[in-house]
Amino acid sequence: MILEDSGVESAAVNAQWLMAHVLGCNRPELGLKQGSTLTVEQHSQWNQLVTQRAQRIPLQHLIGSVEFCGLELVVNKHVLVPRPETEILAEEACKFAKMRESPVILDIGTGSGCLAIAIAAQSPKGAVHALDISKEALKLAQVNANRNGLSERIIFHEADMREGCPIEEAFDLIVSNPPYIPTCDIDTLQEEVREHDPRLALDGGQDGLDYYRFLILNYMPHLNSQGRMMLEVGDGQTPEVSDLIIKYGGRVLSIVPDLNNVERIVVASPDNS
Ligand code: GLN
Repeated sequence: MILEDSGVESAAVNAQWLMAHVLGCNRPELGLKQGSTLTVEQHSQWNQLVTQRAQRIPLQHLIGSVEFCGLELVVNKHVLVPRPETEILAEEACKFAKMRESPVILDIGTGSGCLAIAIAAQSPKGAVHALDISKEALKLAQVNANRNGLSERIIFHEADMREGCPIEEAFDLIVSNPPYIPTCDIDTLQEEVREHDPRLALDGGQDGLDYYRFLILNYMPHLNSQGRMMLEVGDGQTPEVSDLIIKYGGRVLSIVPDLNNVERIVVASPDNS
């Protein structure tokens, strides 16, 4: 099969997603469509999609959307495709936000808006700010907020997080899934990631930790003393990120593993007392 031969992981499942897209149904509904014949247009759409997927264009770019925490989000080449690991960060953030009356929340490097939108959806009284350096990403994040009926609840900021916090607020919760891949590892990533996720969203500098330095140094002081910073980290980065948190006066409260049991989320408090 062409997808398998091209090195696409889970080729059969990919084919099912693409066929469901062509037929305009959900993947579980495909069984009901068995035996139906494709129209000429559907047939040529199918051929085109399979060819593109064989060229390692991400499935989510071909389908145009991805499910994240039960929400449908549009994705394109300007944003990182939201990953299941980041859903774990969203869940931790939502748990914390729900315990607060009217939390003020900041998502740094929002990309598709996945974290800001998932948190706003779960925290009806939360005020959510979302920041990104990319105009195109912010445009898409706004589309996603709109599609999920949350555009009134999120304020978007175009800013370079490395230049300090542009928002005059004290936050209860700061979340971020920053670029964390060491520059020299980018060439080893899957072709879908390496060639189609924006490099801006992947490249964490020489040791992968550049953005954590900025996040912890510049943004931890913007947290209320009872606030939390929750960061997604790359494989094996929890010791260094924890050291940075401690170095800049904070405290590591917990480390949450992802579904593959890799330490993935660092939860910190600015208050080390
Ligand atoms: N999770 C992405 C990957 O492993 C990287 C995203 C990031 O750098 N934040 O490909």
